[in-house]
This record gives sequence, C-alpha cells and structure tokens, in this order.
Amino acid sequence: MSIKVAKFGGSSLASAEQMRKVRDIILADKSRRYVVVSAPGKRYNGDSKITDLLYLCHAHVQYSVPFNELFDIISERFFNIVNELNLSIDLNPYLKEIKHKIETNASVDYIASRGEYLNGLILSEFLGYDFIDPAEMIFFDEYGSFDSKKTQETVANRLANHENAVIPGFYGCSSNGKIKTFSRGGSDVTGSIVARAVKASVYENWTDVSGFLMADPRIVDNPKRIEEITYDELRELSYMGATVLHEDAVFPVREAGIPINIRNTNIPDNPGTIILNDKSPKIRAGSITGIAGRKDFTVIAIQKNLMKSDIGFVRRILSILESNNIPFEHLPSGIDNISIIVENSKIEKKMEKVLREISEQCKPDSIDIYPDMALIATVGHGMAYTPGMAAQLFTAVAKAGINIRMIDQGSSEINIIIGVENKDFEKAVRAIYYAFVV
Ligand code: ASP
Repeated sequence: MSIKVAKFGGSSLASAEQMRKVRDIILADKSRRYVVVSAPGKRYNGDSKITDLLYLCHAHVQYSVPFNELFDIISERFFNIVNELNLSIDLNPYLKEIKHKIETNASVDYIASRGEYLNGLILSEFLGYDFIDPAEMIFFDEYGSFDSKKTQETVANRLANHENAVIPGFYGCSSNGKIKTFSRGGSDVTGSIVARAVKASVYENWTDVSGFLMADPRIVDNPKRIEEITYDELRELSYMGATVLHEDAVFPVREAGIPINIRNTNIPDNPGTIILNDKSPKIRAGSITGIAGRKDFTVIAIQKNLMKSDIGFVRRILSILESNNIPFEHLPSGIDNISIIVENSKIEKKMEKVLREISEQCKPDSIDIYPDMALIATVGHGMAYTPGMAAQLFTAVAKAGINIRMIDQGSSEINIIIGVENKDFEKAVRAIYYAFVV
C-alpha cells in the first residue's frame, strides 16, 4: 500500500479541538502512516504561537529577567490540550527538565524546538502512534548545513521498523550532538525529508487554507483555488509574493518526484492544491495558473545609441550594481536601451552614487528613473506554445485604462511579467484575472 506523510502546521494543532480534527483526518486514511507536527500555533487573532513564547523565554534568560510567568503560560497551553483530550501522559517531568535547561543556559535552538517536541509526544499518545525524536535521525554537518545523505539513510532505516509514527518537525541534531533547528516554518522541511525517505506517494501539508489561490484574495474577490501547479510555476508565484510553504521544503520531494498536497485541516473535504513534479505537468493549454505581484520597484531606464556595438556596456552596468551590493530583479532590453529593475528599498539610499557611476563609466545618452512601479507576474505552463495569450493579457490591461511600462517574458514561456505604476497595481491584477478566469 502507498504511504502518505501528513504534516500539520501550528494552527492545525493549536488546541484540543484542532487535535481532534487532526486525529479524524489521520484515521480516515490508513496510508497516512507518518505524521509530522509543528508546535501549537495561534488559536485566534492576537494569540501567541508557542515557538514565539519559547524564543521569548530565551531572550528573558539572556537579560537575566525571570521567565516563570511566561513558562507557566506555555505549560498551561500544553496541560489544557492534554486535559481536554483526557490523555494520561504526565507532562510535568518533561516541563521540569525543559525549564531547568532553560535556566542553565540551554541553546536557543534547543529551547525553540521544545514546542514541536511536546506536541509530538501529545499527538503520538492521542493517536496511539510511536514517537520518534528527529534528533536521532535528522542531521546537520559540521558547517551547520543539512546533511541530506546521512539523514535520508537514517530516516529510511529507522521508519522501516515503525508501522506508524509521529515525528516533531523543525529540528534535528548538529554534528556535535546538540539540537539544531531549521529556519522558522521549518516543520515543512521535516515533512518533506520524511516523505522522501519513506518514498511516500504524496506529502500532505495540512494548514489553515485550502491550498493556493489564483490571485491574492485581498485584491480579487473570491479567487479560484489552484487545483494543480508545477514546482516551477510555484517558484515563480512565490518569488512574486505568494507563499504558503517554506522554500526549502520543496527540494527533497521535488527531486524525488513526490507531489505535495496542500490541504485545509478545517475543511478536510476540500482537495486543496497539488504541487506536481515538473516532469509530469498536465498542460492546461490556453489557461493561466496564477497571478502574483509586488509593489515598490524602481526602473532605471538607460538609453544609448548603438548600444550593441559598445561591447562591455551591460557588464559595466552590472559591475556597478555588484560593487554597490544591489540585487536586480529583471533586465529587459531593447535595441538601444536597457532597463534595470530593482526593489526601491535596495537602491533608495544609493541612487545618486549609482547614477553617477553609470554616467561616468557607461556614458549613456540618457538615464530615466521611474520609481514606485509594481511588477505583476502571470504564470502558467498553459501559456507556453499558446498563441494569443500575451495579446489577451495586454488587451485586458489596456481596456482597464492602464499603461504598461515594461514587459518581460521568460524564455521558458511560463510567465509574462508586466510593470505598471503602483497606483494601478490592484486594478491591473483584477483585469488580468477576469480576462482569463470566467
Ligand atoms: N514552530 C516553528 C515556527 O513557528 C516551525 C514550524 O511551525 O514550522 O517557525
């Protein structure tokens, strides 16, 4: 039988009520054999995440401020879950040990990881699944980088002996035997590592949204859910601002060709979004997958007659950006001109210097600056090889009375990026959405 790995995020495990939903989901499908958990997250707007409170404990100790009350709040959250679920596990010895270690200068990674650890213990008891501490099977090397090879082997061997298991997310073991965490949101990465090691048929990532939407719901009313997306489409969309998943979570399963299914713990019947291996995209010719965008870019438009014959012109521009430590986003060019698109915040303070250096070293005919621009990416494999898609997009934006200031289409043809003024951003996103989605 195929194996599914199910990772549950903090909001899915924030209370006893949420834990019951999680149990129902797991018991509904026997192939959900390995469960990866986050620490309890927010129960309501304004509530605290356990991980944040743990980091705060560490900060208190650093400044020799008592953290008893804070620790009581954390303990109370866990006691409430255990009591409401009528579990027999006694958390006192665990909490006592954690508190003692915090008092005696435990590392910040150890402290931060305890939310996942305790939540894993609780859920394993609630489900009757084995508990496996990732400190025994997820490893980092002496440089602090994730040790993929050693980890994959160990996880595969270890889990082969367990029919079912709960594994805390977010942390593993450093080369000196100490607890080490991934960056924030890292339980997604743990889920992905486990899915790969057990050769799962799917990595289910359960959260509080039903997958990805085709556009930002703050801009488009009730946008449609994306049913299927490829890893590279997702990369394009998340680069432009749409994110649900930890970036590093994608690589282990992507390499192994395992799909990720983003699901909603609160609406488990909703099939969510499936992220597929790029090698097997279901091409939806003539349709788009999603739209994402960001505001606050600056365009530096540089014009020089016979630019083509001035060999090294673009290299000089790029080395000026490099020496000023300015990353650029896009570099669309024409016959005698090139534009550099950078985030406002990255260039604001250095603008004068950069312009002076470009004038001196590149001797252009003109340089124009357009601040406060927005970039909008329309993404989808369905656009490749489909004539008329770009025309449809530009017509929609033109009909909305919006001036397109820049166009950039990647050679892979899976995205078309346009630049508009910040003030036109939302209107342009809506125009594009309604041009393609009926
Ligand atoms: N609890 C950790 C965090 O809040 C890791 C996770 O939830 O994925 O970042």
